[in-house]
Parts: sequence; structure tokens; C-alpha cells
Amino acid sequence: MELFDSLIIGAGPAGSSAAIFSAETGNRVLLLDKSRFPRDKVCGEFLSPAIWSFLKKLGLHSKILETGTRVDSATFVIGNEKSIRLRLPVLDPELPFGWGISRRSFDALLLSEARYRGVTVLENMEVTHYRKEKSFFTLQATEKTTGKLNEFRASRLIHAAGRESRWKHLKGTTHKTGFKAHFTGPALEHSVRLYFFKKGYVGLVEVENGETNVCGIASNECVSAVKGNFDELMKEIAEENGEFKAWLAAALRKSSWLTCSRFDYGFNQNTLPAVGDAASFVEPFLGQGITLALASAFQLCGRPHNLRNTSKIKQLYKQKARLRPLISLALNSAYSMPWLFRLHTRWPAVCQHFVRKACSL
Ligand SMILES: Cc1cc2nc3c(=O)[nH]c(=O)nc-3n(C[C@H](O)[C@H](O)[C@H](O)COP(=O)(O)OP(=O)(O)OC[C@H]3O[C@@H](n4cnc5c(N)ncnc54)[C@H](O)[C@@H]3O)c2cc1C
Repeated sequence: MELFDSLIIGAGPAGSSAAIFSAETGNRVLLLDKSRFPRDKVCGEFLSPAIWSFLKKLGLHSKILETGTRVDSATFVIGNEKSIRLRLPVLDPELPFGWGISRRSFDALLLSEARYRGVTVLENMEVTHYRKEKSFFTLQATEKTTGKLNEFRASRLIHAAGRESRWKHLKGTTHKTGFKAHFTGPALEHSVRLYFFKKGYVGLVEVENGETNVCGIASNECVSAVKGNFDELMKEIAEENGEFKAWLAAALRKSSWLTCSRFDYGFNQNTLPAVGDAASFVEPFLGQGITLALASAFQLCGRPHNLRNTSKIKQLYKQKARLRPLISLALNSAYSMPWLFRLHTRWPAVCQHFVRKACSL
């Protein structure tokens, strides 16, 4: 049985960055993921401006800047005429913008950096059990291609297996479906464009290779009405929104639709130290999940060693959870009650303040 200092379950942004931070201090780290990379993921693929300080700590900001597209603002569009454009806050004067990059590229870049820093990475390896014996954790994982069972041992085990791993611990779901596909289409002028419809919203972000990520969340009712045909759903959204209609008419879908369901919020009750979505899941509309994944990994494994600060992780997620009722209200009423536009006309600074609060950690 192989012996390590740290075992990390899940090689998404949280697990890979936790592995890089841990390896920095000379730890022998094993990072396991059930998928083979590069892999796609349902995500808006927007990195908030707060991410740069963590990418700098990981020594990865220059590499990320080579792949993807700068995002300076967010444009909210409802119906045919109303749209407002809000500047993203400047949180790092050297890198005063957000970023659009596919999860396929972003997650693979983090994982290859982890390998480069000496982390042992095992892909296609699904963790099925773990047990604690005295001061050691023993972890069982199955190689997905061969079915071979493996055991690993370490004094530290970190849970970074994402949102889906939380289902068995949390009660309550909402009835929504997340969806995404890549398109080529007209340029978006470095703005995340958000279109609202009766039962959800869709966001457009330019990523790398001239592609645009189209990602949204719709009620299950809405998805059933189009029999799960997301091209049909796009056409329906376009009927309610002239600007999106024009964009879609000139666009071409380049990948198949990916979907996800179940959105459980709240803090993980698991006794293992957890980072990223495994710790807590925030409202995707905020576009902060990836930044929080890196921030929580830094709190648990970053220097000055050893922070191991799980209460700071809770605090990070709680701050964002406090915004949830306000965001739900805004999303539920955005389509039928364009109060946001009135607010913006009268008090633009209030809207700008809210964007700053949403984007900061
Ligand atoms: C619709 C939608 C849109 C979003 N848009 C954005 C956005 O624009 N910007 C943003 O910042 N955030 C966004 N998010 C949130 C973001 O996707 C997550 O916060 C982020 O993926 C969290 O990273 P993570 O590493 O914690 O989890 P994940 O990225 O989910 O990684 C977990 C990894 O664990 C692996 N795993 C799971 N179980 C096992 C097991 N048993 N054994 C081994 N491996 C396992 C999985 O294969 C996966 O690779 C969005 C989320 C949704 C649902």
C-alpha cells in the first residue's frame, strides 16, 4: 500500500489548487479523480476579478492569460429594449478584469501544474470508501477502465469531490436544470451578456479559440416543455429577447449540450476538511464558485503553512450565502418586474456597489 502525506479526492479547481498548495511545502500528495482530463463541465466559464490574487499565489496567472478572453463588464438584458451594462470592479490594478475560459482548458491547466509541482495524479480513479485508523486515513479507489481496486494511505484526507458528492448529506433540492454548449457567434465586446426569460436566464461569455460559452439555468418545467431539446429552448428564449435572437441567428453550435441538475446549497456536514463545492455551493449566478474553490484551497493548504483554516472557509461561503435571498428575488422578478432598470436609472451607484460586493471575496 502506497503511503502519502495528503490524499485529495477530486481534481477540479478546488482539488488541484489544494494539491499545488500542499506540494509547495514538500508534502507527498496524491490527487485522484474519477474523470479523465481534459473534461467538460456545465459552468458559465466566467472567472471573477477576485480570482487573480489566488492564481498569482498558484503562480498560474500568466498561463491563464494566454488562454481565454478578457471580460470588463456584465450586460443585463430583459425583453427587447431594456439593457444595462455594469462595469466589473477593479480588484487588482495589474489585472483589472474578469476572464472567460473553458473549464476544459482551465481545469486541465491546473491539473498539469499540480503534476509539474510533483503531485501524483491518478485519473479515471473513483474513490469508493475511506476509513480512519489511528492517525491514518485509508482510501479505496477503483480504476474505472479495469475495475481494479487500489488502497492508499495518508495522515491527511481532503474532500474536493464537488457539488454532486454533497447530495447524500444535504436535504432539499430546487427544480432547475443547468445547461451549456459552445458556439461561434458575433463578438460580445468583452461583456458577459445575461438574458432573462420567464423561467430562468442564459449567460454568454467569450472563451478561447473564438468560441462563446452559452450557459443557463431553467426550471425543469421549461425543459420538459421543449422535451429536453435545448436548441428549441434557445429559440423560445430568442422569441422573448430581440438581441439574443439576432446573436443566435448568426451563431453556430460547436459542441453538444451538457446538462446538470440538483442545486443544493448550505454547508457540508461531512467531518473531513472540504474545499470548493464539496464544502458549500453558492448561487451560480454570482460567478464565484471557481474563485471560492481556489480561496478555500488556499485557506486549508496555503502558506504561511499551515493555515488549515476551516472556519475561514465557512466564513467565505457564508458571506456569499447571505446574498442568496436577494439574488433569488432579483432572478425571480427580473423578467416580470424590471425594477432593476428603474433602480439603475435612479441610482446607478447602488447597482455598481452590488456588483462590487458580488465580485469581491
Ligand atoms: C450552471 C452553473 C454555472 C456556473 N457558472 C459558474 C461561473 O461562471 N463561474 C464560476 O466561478 N463558477 C460557476 N459555477 C460553479 C462552479 O462550476 C463550481 O463552483 C466549481 O466547479 C467548483 O469546483 P470544485 O473543484 O469544488 O468541484 P468540481 O469542479 O465539481 O470538481 C470535482 C471533481 O471531483 C471529481 N469526483 C467526484 N466524485 C469523485 C469520486 N468519488 N472519486 C474521484 N473523483 C471524484 C469529479 O470528477 C470532479 O472532477 C457554476 C455552476 C453551475 C452549476
